[in-house]
Parts: sequence; structure tokens; C-alpha cells
Amino acid sequence: MKEIIGQTQTDRRGLGSTTAKWWSKTEGKEKRDMVIDEIRNKEDSARVPKAVQQPQQGQWIKWDNAMQISLTWNDIWHMASLRISFLIRSVYDLLPSNANLVRWGKKDDPTCPLCQGRQTTKHVLSSCKVALSQG
Ligand SMILES: [Zn+2]
Repeated sequence: MKEIIGQTQTDRRGLGSTTAKWWSKTEGKEKRDMVIDEIRNKEDSARVPKAVQQPQQGQWIKWDNAMQISLTWNDIWHMASLRISFLIRSVYDLLPSNANLVRWGKKDDPTCPLCQGRQTTKHVLSSCKVALSQG
């Protein structure tokens, strides 16, 4: 279908700044990779709108500036179980931050004891200015 339409520009780069791979001119592994990329893009385009509708499970879509780590199944298999638990609970915002404790009815005040801001998981892990300045 893309070969029929031709090359289109989807971002702010100028025309001709990207080179398109055409299905008819590729072979073997490159053709397989094109199929995998196309299916991956299709799955992502279906997954993101669903995640937007789920405020807790869809937390990962707000992490635009998060550092990406390449984790393999082998890495995960050799991790300590508590570390895996922390990783999953931090991605889905299920750690006991003050904001979550308020949401769960365990506490009344969501403020951070260091900076008096709202203590969310993101605040604790990456944006509390007092904690960051104290190292
Ligand atoms: Zn703070």
C-alpha cells in the first residue's frame, strides 16, 4: 500500500531527507524486518489509545522523557524478585507514595516532607528538587 501511495512526510523534516525502503526492492531478512516493523506499528497504534483510557495502567504513556533501558528476558530472569517488583510497581505507579496512600485511603496528606510538593511516584523517583540537590 505504501508503494502505491509513495513516500509521504510525517514530521517536520524536509522532503527527501528520509529514504524509504520499498517492499518490491528488498529481499530476505530486510523484507521480514519490514513486516515485523509494520505489525509493531499497527499494534502500537491500537495499544496507545487503549492505554490512554486506563489512568493507572496507562501511566507509561506520560513518560516521554524517561530514560530507556534495554531489558532482555535474560536480564529480568537474573534480577532479584524485589527489584522486579519495584520496577513493575514504579512503571504502573503502584508504589506507596503519599499521593497513592491518599488515593488508597491510608493517609490524609499527599505532600512531600522534603519540598511540600505533591509526592507522586514520579516526584519521588525523578523530580523532587530538594532530594536531587542533596544527592
Ligand atoms: Zn519533594
